Amino acid sequence: MTTLPPGLHSETRTLMGWGRTNPVTAQVVQPSSVEQLQELVRGAPPRSLIARGLGRSYGDAAQLNDGTVIELPAFDRIELDAASGTVTAGAGVSLDQILRVIVPAGFFLPVTPGTRNVTVGGAIAADVHGKNHHVDGSFGNHVQRLVLVDGKGSLRVLTPSSQGNGDQAALFWATVGGMGLTGVIVEATFSLIPITTSLISVDTTRYRDLESLMAAMVEADANYRYSVAWVDSLDSKGRGVLTCGDHARLDQLSPAQQADPLHYDPKALASTPPFLPGGLLNKLTVRAFNEAWYRKAPKHREGELQAMAPFFHPLDGVQDWNRIYGPAGFLQYQFAVPNEAAHLVPRTLEALRQVGAPSFLTVLKRFGPSNPAPLSFPIPGWTLAADVPAAVPGLLEVLDRLDEEVAAAGGRLYLAKDARQSSLLFGAQYSSLEEWIAVKHQMDPCGVFCADQYRRLSH
Ligand SMILES: Cc1cc2nc3c(=O)[nH]c(=O)nc-3n(C[C@H](O)[C@H](O)[C@H](O)COP(=O)(O)OP(=O)(O)OC[C@H]3O[C@@H](n4cnc5c(N)ncnc54)[C@H](O)[C@@H]3O)c2cc1C
Repeated sequence: MTTLPPGLHSETRTLMGWGRTNPVTAQVVQPSSVEQLQELVRGAPPRSLIARGLGRSYGDAAQLNDGTVIELPAFDRIELDAASGTVTAGAGVSLDQILRVIVPAGFFLPVTPGTRNVTVGGAIAADVHGKNHHVDGSFGNHVQRLVLVDGKGSLRVLTPSSQGNGDQAALFWATVGGMGLTGVIVEATFSLIPITTSLISVDTTRYRDLESLMAAMVEADANYRYSVAWVDSLDSKGRGVLTCGDHARLDQLSPAQQADPLHYDPKALASTPPFLPGGLLNKLTVRAFNEAWYRKAPKHREGELQAMAPFFHPLDGVQDWNRIYGPAGFLQYQFAVPNEAAHLVPRTLEALRQVGAPSFLTVLKRFGPSNPAPLSFPIPGWTLAADVPAAVPGLLEVLDRLDEEVAAAGGRLYLAKDARQSSLLFGAQYSSLEEWIAVKHQMDPCGVFCADQYRRLSH
């Protein structure tokens, strides 16, 4: 057990990921200052600490059974520098909190995942991506400076290029996508996208089969900043709906909207919205939902003005939607594969259909170039994400086989979604893993930082 510095209290809590598959008991601490955090790290034994944000990673990345888990609500600074178009934020600040400050001031996040309930620390540690990866890359591409407490308890200021400062750029990039294993991020400065309105101009098109949907997505790469497709996982043809968008210009708004073009009010939805199947999920409810969702989409519609929250974060209005999978929880299977391995998209959907794993949330996106972070997930090509109930018999065996095919095709699984892959296949997917391990040892020589996911993947 970690000896806590004077004045730092702990609480014993059950922790799990968003998929609710692997609950554990840990000692949770919330340091109130950098100095207290440094003291905690200096007194910690090997494999005893991990940082946690808002627990939106699906698996076991932000938990440590019988260990000490560090939350950072006290690291809550938000400072917008409108002149340089950057924000400096504490690692415990959520993207939701940042949006409420920056949107009315004419800025948007450089990258946002499908939920705004993630912290700055979690966004950097997972190097999250959004619907604009093909244009803007992932979150780490926009971080200009980060401050971290490493495994020796030293405070480090890291930037993406070394600028005569030794090999510190390697430390920066090992932290981006490094899942909290190089240290605890306490603060970061990142650049923002200037906007003139808070609305998104959205084009929506329905496709009867996966082939035409994927062809349209490749074309959309050049024409839109944001694009994402929903796929009907139960339809053997793989029909789907492609949604593409860009920040709307002032002249696209109605006179009433122009009166307050940067209005931002992401209200929580009061009840389950129509895009969620009611009650506990099964094949029938998912089939009915998928049918309704496909039919509800227009065959083709251009220039619809949507607020940011429904466009970027449609599920955030629904509290605890992850409970609809029942006590066994759910897995999100997300992989990225190069363009040449596009066949793994239909192959995976077919394998999930055959094993009887219904998914109402099946999302396909395009990825552009990778960044230098050895453990960053995106590689140029395709990424498919499917939420499936964990209790489906035979599911794990099917996923194990798919893992092998993904790895053989030069692809990888996303650590922020992973709850089950083997260490062998993980090593086969990330070709720069050895390089990352060397930097992890440099930053954390005694191996203080550890998560259940790291335990699973590092032996
Ligand atoms: C509905 C939903 C939609 C999502 N959509 C997307 C998406 O479109 N794209 C995408 O990329 N991801 C997506 N995600 C995943 C999510 O963005 C990531 O898992 C993100 O890391 C969660 O942030 P968090 O603050 O909840 O961190 P946690 O889940 O608590 O932790 C995630 C990792 O970050 C580390 N960490 C947290 N804080 C710190 C810190 N201060 N210092 C060092 N390490 C830290 C943890 O140790 C852990 O390894 C989605 C998740 C949900 C639930």
